[in-house]
Amino acid sequence: MKKIIFATGNENKMKEIRMILADCGYEILSMKQAGIDVDVVEDGSTFEENAIIKATAISKLAGEDCVVLADDSGLEVDYLNKEPGIYSARYEGVDTPYSIKNQIIIDRLAGVEGEARSARFVCAIAAAFPDGRVETRRGTIEGRIAFEPAGENGFGYDPIFYVPEFGKTTAELDPEEKNKVSHRGNALRMIKEVL
Ligand code: IMP
Repeated sequence: MKKIIFATGNENKMKEIRMILADCGYEILSMKQAGIDVDVVEDGSTFEENAIIKATAISKLAGEDCVVLADDSGLEVDYLNKEPGIYSARYEGVDTPYSIKNQIIIDRLAGVEGEARSARFVCAIAAAFPDGRVETRRGTIEGRIAFEPAGENGFGYDPIFYVPEFGKTTAELDPEEKNKVSHRGNALRMIKEVL
């Protein structure tokens, strides 16, 4: 069976990715399962650049039968000039709990109403093939910053990402529901076509 190594150490992302790629006919391995343990410096200036940096670095360490996928994702808040963007994981400190990061974003939007609270999750996925070819695809989901956190599912900024169509945050959606509409789900479905 052909293999995909997904270049992330984030177990939450890995769970979503396994669900979305379950029917793609590849064996899905995390970096840990593939026995690869390296820290790649993400110094690109776009989501796509960072995804390509990760996928190509890991591809050099992977077997000839492996496609390496990497994602770079984050939250863009329009009122904050698209912050935290590619710095989403590092925003206010890598080790700062998301309960605090999320409250900081809510506080920075104090007095901001309606559509002015618009935001999106972005996910760029890069696929690095054994022959050196690299493809990227971008998925997004549009929403608004909630007035207060809600929901226990998901991870990161999910409790403050409100999706008007559902009347819920992505942390209040079931995992299956989130995958159907999420930035990561959309990007992975496009990458499936490339595979
Ligand atoms: P990356 O590992 O550099 O791609 O960091 C992505 C960061 O963006 C994560 O650590 C989260 O803070 C945020 N993020 C990306 N996707 C999601 C999501 O689906 N829900 C909530 N936060 C997300």
